[in-house]
Amino acid sequence: MKVVPRRPSKRGSISHARKLSMTDFGNDDDDSTHASPRPKRRGRMSLCEPPKGVVFRVAAARSRNLTVVSSVDSFRQMTDAMKKSGVKLLAIDWDLTMVSCHTRSQWYGTAEELGRHVRPVFRKLVRAAMGSGLKVTIVSFSGQHSLIRGAVASAFPCLDTDEIVLRCSDKKWGVSEKHLQQIFPAAKISSPGKLTHLCSAAQQLCLADKENGLHIKPQDIVLIDDDLQNVENAQHNKVTAVLMNPDKPDHFLLTLGERYLDSEN
Ligand SMILES: [Mg+2]
Repeated sequence: MKVVPRRPSKRGSISHARKLSMTDFGNDDDDSTHASPRPKRRGRMSLCEPPKGVVFRVAAARSRNLTVVSSVDSFRQMTDAMKKSGVKLLAIDWDLTMVSCHTRSQWYGTAEELGRHVRPVFRKLVRAAMGSGLKVTIVSFSGQHSLIRGAVASAFPCLDTDEIVLRCSDKKWGVSEKHLQQIFPAAKISSPGKLTHLCSAAQQLCLADKENGLHIKPQDIVLIDDDLQNVENAQHNKVTAVLMNPDKPDHFLLTLGERYLDSEN
């Protein structure tokens, strides 16, 4: 039986109204442009308060004068540290995470136009990650596979973007229930979130690199996603998943920095 990637309910999506004050670093991301109105978010979380864990991490980072990465070299420092810590696969959500808009699988513009919405922070992070030897995958519930492939090629002209594994919600791939639970024993078959995408992407990458014996375990994966439910689902299955706030698109770097840069010191 195949596990079909399904868009989860928006119960846990982070609200764009969430107020996270970040004055420690400049935000060079222009998120003012949205191709479509932001979806209305429902949720049990307060619109005004970030999760306590996020507050704690931000406070801890500030107290240690964590340098927030901003230059290309700093991003490389971060991804080198991730690699050294055993990270093998960087997985990034597409809508409202890698791009500053939500396409809702209905983007009617060109791939190049969509590529312009790729956030600066991810332009740097992906380039650094591939330079550090990390595998990169984009995991999305969008069904517009070809469009996203074109947008990625347009946004990263200096990279061999064929190396970036793309997993959309289409019929180009599938994961058996048995395989999913082999990799993620705690996965809920009825609501696997991004776990099927991760499972399939890891499988493809391991097959492609079997000469070097590449083996990707859940603990070797970092997922960045704006949907709290996807993040919690992945964390529950031992993936290092980081919540991305679309209103503060650099914010997740603090969490990554605390985990990977601080542990080096
Ligand atoms: Mg998203």
